[in-house]
Amino acid sequence: MIQYKHASVAAFEGYAGSSRSGFRAEVESQRSLGQLDDLLIYFDDRQAGATLSGPAAARIGKTLDSISEDLGPLPPMIADRARLRTMLASLARTLHVGVLADCFFDPGTAACLKQATGAQGPLTALCQPTLCPNACITARHRPVWARSAQEAATLLKEKRLSQLQRGILQQDLERASKVIDSIDKGQSAPGP
Ligand code: SF4
Repeated sequence: MIQYKHASVAAFEGYAGSSRSGFRAEVESQRSLGQLDDLLIYFDDRQAGATLSGPAAARIGKTLDSISEDLGPLPPMIADRARLRTMLASLARTLHVGVLADCFFDPGTAACLKQATGAQGPLTALCQPTLCPNACITARHRPVWARSAQEAATLLKEKRLSQLQRGILQQDLERASKVIDSIDKGQSAPGP
């Protein structure tokens, strides 16, 4: 399952990578701002009571809560947003938004890097969103998981499937259903 937004970033890097015009630096700068904006949405959603799911949920939730405590008693929408952006900057640099899960990339624990050598960033084609400690799933990802579950359920109605195909589809359905349940219950997504 390809995480399309990651893929678009990779494609954009491809265009920018060979230019000496400073375009790449501009791309990097815009991407950093985008990462910070994405993390601000995480922060504000959490303040509004949103829960996180996926293996990275506890780590990210703890970090956001600790930043909120450091900000003091003012509601975060009123608090100094510039200061908040500074406090979120380090975590934001690790954030890569995805369709099935967002990646808070830590190369030391990245499941995708264990399947490939030489890579330095997230390998979205090898992403394991329910297993990797860097994967964080939010309500924004729910429609894609629901569609995946629906597709697996539809395919399973086909009588001519081999036992192997049926087994794989059944696993997909169970995995997607668990993720959907965990989003709905606000719990950490379980393994495969
Ligand atoms: S496997 Fe982990 S580190 Fe790799 S892209 Fe997915 S969430 Fe990120």
